[in-house]
Amino acid sequence: MTDTLPLKSPSGAEPARSGPGVAALQRDIVDNLICLQGRYPEIATPHDWYMALAYTVRDRMMTRRVATTYAYVARGAKIACYLSAEFLIGPQLGNNLINLGIGTNARDALQALDVDLDTVLAIEEEPGLGNGGLGRLAACYIDSLSTLEIPAIGYGIRYEFGIFDQEIRDGWQVEVTDKWLQKGNPWEILRPDVAFYVNFGGHTENVTDAQGRFCVRWTPAYTVKGVACDTPMPGFRVNTCNTLRLWKSEAVESFNLQDFNAGDYYEAVHEKVRSETLSKVLYPNDEPEAGKRLRLAQQYFFVSCSLQDMLRLLALKGEPISRFADVFTAQLNDTHPSIAVAELMRLLVDERQVPWDEAWEITRRSLAYTNHTLLPEALETWGLPLFQNLLPRLLEIIYEINRRFLEEVRQRYPGDDERVARMSLIDETGAKRVRMAHLATIGSHAVNGVAALHSELLKQTVLRDFAELWPERFLNVTNGVTPRRFMMLSNPGLATLLDETIGEGWVTDLARLRKLDGHADDIAFQDRWRSIKQTNKERLAARISSATGIVVDPAALFDIQVKRIHEYKRQHLNALFIVTLYLRLRRNPQLALTPRCFVFGGKAAPGYAMARLIIRLINGIAEVVNNDPAVGGRLKVVFFPDFNVKNAHFIYPAADLSEQISTAGKEASGTGNMKFMMNGALTIGTLDGANVEIRDEVGDENFFLFGLTADEVERVKRAGYRPIEYVNANEELREALDLIAGGCFSRGDAGMFRPLVDNLLHVDPFLVLADYAAYVARQEDVSVAWQNTRRWTRMSILNTAYAGKFSSDRAISEYCERIWNIRPVKISLERQP
Ligand SMILES: *Cc1c(COP(=O)(O)O)cnc(C)c1O
Repeated sequence: MTDTLPLKSPSGAEPARSGPGVAALQRDIVDNLICLQGRYPEIATPHDWYMALAYTVRDRMMTRRVATTYAYVARGAKIACYLSAEFLIGPQLGNNLINLGIGTNARDALQALDVDLDTVLAIEEEPGLGNGGLGRLAACYIDSLSTLEIPAIGYGIRYEFGIFDQEIRDGWQVEVTDKWLQKGNPWEILRPDVAFYVNFGGHTENVTDAQGRFCVRWTPAYTVKGVACDTPMPGFRVNTCNTLRLWKSEAVESFNLQDFNAGDYYEAVHEKVRSETLSKVLYPNDEPEAGKRLRLAQQYFFVSCSLQDMLRLLALKGEPISRFADVFTAQLNDTHPSIAVAELMRLLVDERQVPWDEAWEITRRSLAYTNHTLLPEALETWGLPLFQNLLPRLLEIIYEINRRFLEEVRQRYPGDDERVARMSLIDETGAKRVRMAHLATIGSHAVNGVAALHSELLKQTVLRDFAELWPERFLNVTNGVTPRRFMMLSNPGLATLLDETIGEGWVTDLARLRKLDGHADDIAFQDRWRSIKQTNKERLAARISSATGIVVDPAALFDIQVKRIHEYKRQHLNALFIVTLYLRLRRNPQLALTPRCFVFGGKAAPGYAMARLIIRLINGIAEVVNNDPAVGGRLKVVFFPDFNVKNAHFIYPAADLSEQISTAGKEASGTGNMKFMMNGALTIGTLDGANVEIRDEVGDENFFLFGLTADEVERVKRAGYRPIEYVNANEELREALDLIAGGCFSRGDAGMFRPLVDNLLHVDPFLVLADYAAYVARQEDVSVAWQNTRRWTRMSILNTAYAGKFSSDRAISEYCERIWNIRPVKISLERQP
């Protein structure tokens, strides 16, 4: 897509810091390099140029940002606040250039300085402030909110250390600390003027205030200050520039000073360290128990700062408290921010003397909750002693919410004590725990799942009682991803072809991709389509070679599974198929076999032993298969290290086949599946999450479906699943498992994969063995389809053509209409009076 902003004016005299022309950009890049960074153009490093360009681009967002903020305050616009403990925003430079429409000019400006834009883009460290899908979803939504001109603020945590960097040594995952801030972050604007205090620990007491009212006084053990760090988020070719506001924890100065004056220097330092620890590190998913207390503290910290900020903005707009829910809506991204229910009550009742019932009305009207998981082990609960100790006042408020709520339940279902126990905010079945999903549900006016199937299962399983009580509160909003980053930025070849074929409007109106279906059988178009894919595969092959040393053939079928490593996502099912192919080749080296390159990528939680072992297995298989002369290079297996947003940019566009093979009913939605589809990959997948809707859109004939349905999974489990029976009935499966257990992929160490194989043989919680035969059979259909190039290309084109639904713009429009009741606000760059 060509840039739409004006090129340089004839005189070259564009305003400093805002002109989009080549001359202005070039001048400002040099200015920033010298004046802001104190460097020398003659000896500047690529990183120096990266910073100079980043500051130059940031400057160009500032007028938009100021105009946007003025408009929101002045016009009384309702604001959507997206509360998320994770924002996996990825590298910013390329995306901002695209959204501002100055990519070509920036390239030319750098060229004139003898600097290559692609080299500069490759320098950027990505802020890894999320684990995977959930954090990336929040980032896609921020992009769509700005692009759709919706007044919005993203609220989260500015982790000093994001998700670890992954290295592979001897086939094992090794975690390396993420140093994204080491060389400075040019995008953020520190706001010491926007800071709030957050209390922890201590005790509460009932007191009577000056007006004779009963109230509760919370005397904390310590207080931490939260300071805003803003990252501007410009929309695509609009003036709207929303803010991602992340909270950084700091010590409260007065504490320091007191201790220091009292001569207790070490206590003062301790206080500072404890405070700064709060936003220090992002916790990886799937970690059993690790850092529980600090995690709850992080959640409360960012939620409290965010709600206090919203109350500050309310006052700035000159609105009374009673209008809070008319001015703000807050979406809770999973239960991580669900303490907002109790904290908003505390801020209203304790700190602003709003009567309880009125405060509850405001809270419920302003909050909405998105559920992201049905896995019971992933549903957040906090032990009561920990909660009581860290947040004593919040626990009291939760008790009071619960008392009133359970009264309502008893009235609705007289005598149904079991239901009351099931629905309570406190789980009393074992050691008492606070159920955060219940808190989020009770305190919200809307609860949504993230794909049609997931939203249905939610109502039938974890939130069943609540869906019976309040059916009108439950709805579905299927996830989406931004086509700016995942098509335009990462697949420029495809973007150009689409511009020429269906016009430039597709990137903000993705349903227009449908117009491609008229070209699916056009031979010349097919040839161009394939050549773009080929280029993308060559680009990935080069990355693979430099990252792993493995040489792959870009003509082979690129069969890709990238996502967090987890048993429910079943990377080991994919691995079993590869071992099966390998065994077939060893038995019959003459076998006609479709050449495939299997690419895996993804991080395992450091404490998740089975996931780490799956990585080791994939690398073990790679070592053997890639080097066995009997294979003759027809199969290649690659574990691409450190799957993150930056690497994702050149992985998704290079895929022929997308592996979406989770056990049905376990993946809430998936968003990787959508990124693959947009970029023309075909999917082999189960009826899980958004795969169901992907198949509905593209048609069964363009999707490789296999495996048990969610209902069948439950039925098999209820009937007493015995994985060993599937092994006894399938010789190839037995051989594959034997080969793994025998040490073939662990350099003869027969013990290494024993835990994995034993788990599959005797437990197999995610029914890998039950789906194995169906998966292998469907993979054979894939191989056959690949042989017919024209048919495959047609299917690939149709996958892109029917991907329109999966734009995050569609998802955000649904949130606006069905949950938030918010409309766009046009931003003008003319100075407001
Ligand atoms: C999209 C994305 C994910 C989510 O992938 P799923 O296949 O939906 O699990 C995780 N990590 C990164 C870096 C992504 O871009």
